[in-house]
Amino acid sequence: MPVPLHFQTLAELADRLAKREISSLELTRAVISRTEAVEKSVRAFNSRDAADALAQAEASDARRAAGQSRGPLDGIPVGLKDVIAVKDQPLTASSRMLANFVSPYDGTVTTRLRRAGAVLWGRLNCDEFAMGSSTENSAFHPTSNPWDLTCVPGGSSGGSSAALAAGEAIATLGSDTGGSIRQPAALCGVVGLKPTYGLVSRFGLVAYASSLDQIGPMTRTVEDAAILLGAIAGHDERDSTSLRVEIPDYRAELAGRRGPWRIGIPREYFGAGLDPEVAAAVERAVEYYRGLGCEVRPVSLPHTEHCLDTYYIIATAEASSNLARYDGVRYGHRSTKAKDIVDLYFQSRAEGFGAEVKRRIILGTYVLSSGYYDAFYLRAQKVRTLIRRDFLDAFRGVDVLLTPTSPIPAFKLGEKTDPLAMYLCDIYTIGVNLAGLPAISVPCGFTGTGLPIGFQLIGRPLDESGLLAAAHAYDRVHAWGRKTPSL
Ligand code: GLN
Repeated sequence: MPVPLHFQTLAELADRLAKREISSLELTRAVISRTEAVEKSVRAFNSRDAADALAQAEASDARRAAGQSRGPLDGIPVGLKDVIAVKDQPLTASSRMLANFVSPYDGTVTTRLRRAGAVLWGRLNCDEFAMGSSTENSAFHPTSNPWDLTCVPGGSSGGSSAALAAGEAIATLGSDTGGSIRQPAALCGVVGLKPTYGLVSRFGLVAYASSLDQIGPMTRTVEDAAILLGAIAGHDERDSTSLRVEIPDYRAELAGRRGPWRIGIPREYFGAGLDPEVAAAVERAVEYYRGLGCEVRPVSLPHTEHCLDTYYIIATAEASSNLARYDGVRYGHRSTKAKDIVDLYFQSRAEGFGAEVKRRIILGTYVLSSGYYDAFYLRAQKVRTLIRRDFLDAFRGVDVLLTPTSPIPAFKLGEKTDPLAMYLCDIYTIGVNLAGLPAISVPCGFTGTGLPIGFQLIGRPLDESGLLAAAHAYDRVHAWGRKTPSL
């Protein structure tokens, strides 16, 4: 049976669009009707505008007919996490605080996707302000894992991973502060790439922890991730942390860089808490690389045990500062019960933010307060430097590091009620953000009960080409991300 349009890869569809075998209108219609069919059970979207998507598709077809195609993304429906600004569309960050906010401008990634001709399709659910690992912190509704509707899709970009796995988009964008692209990608059986800090502009991204946040692609294959990254990466003067670097043709480089790679296995990432089925699947991926002639050697990242503590000091500190802007005055939720201006701040924030966001604002305010700043925040920054050094030391002897992405496969909705248990979902992903490195989650099989498993490859700073090539060497043969759930 031929693969339905909504489950084909970006690369395949780009090819078929270029050959005029299909039109963008046809493809976009297929994705929309698939969404109408499954969205009641998946609930990946916060909002969507089919008429707008169809108009973009028609414009794409018209360009192509006039010989003015803009490349592989032209006419492809791409979903955006609801923390990325799209002009004249809702931008909620899955928070009551922004429930009625409509963005007056496009984020830089949005502008670049438009320039590449992509059909922007829908606002995808996430944990409130991207704080969480299951998408259950959304103020609106949880999202289900398409592989088992009683399970979470991961988070915080769970709408982005679930929509992709369910065939409700051809590719999506997520954001990753401590694992929010890679962990949901692993739990939904798709590819997720967190770029080097500074490679992709954060302009128009709702800020969570600005020194850690990065936007990145979520796709069915590594090749698709290379295509999408190429479209969104590159310097942007509207983001002061944006790097001035040449953007290579990531897709073309996939073929050019064939390895073999020296692969480091950080021993700290295979300890207690790692599910045996996940460990076994990751071990099989390692064996595959060995079979390709890669040298696999153990390495150590000795400060790994401090990653979680360090992250929850730095991330909450930055969050408390970033979220101070939601004061009920300029935009966002405004309480109608306030007696005076100070009460307006209190009431608006009390009503607008959910429990996890409040917890983090309180934690972050505490670690930044006078008397505690040196003991917590400053010390965390020093440990962060040590964590980054661990990685750079390891990269002296190896080209990439290979680890599990998540210690466990998708868990049940409602299962994790303790915040600390939820925070542990990210033990293998947060070090990468603290160190500013690129990393990708690649699907590598399923558990006995049919839940997806992913492994993570971590690369040198700005070596997205090498990272993608190493990931592609596995993915082009195994292609687990092409498997589709029965919904
Ligand atoms: N789960 C982590 C957190 O809650 C990471 C989230 C993210 O990457 N946005 O902070």
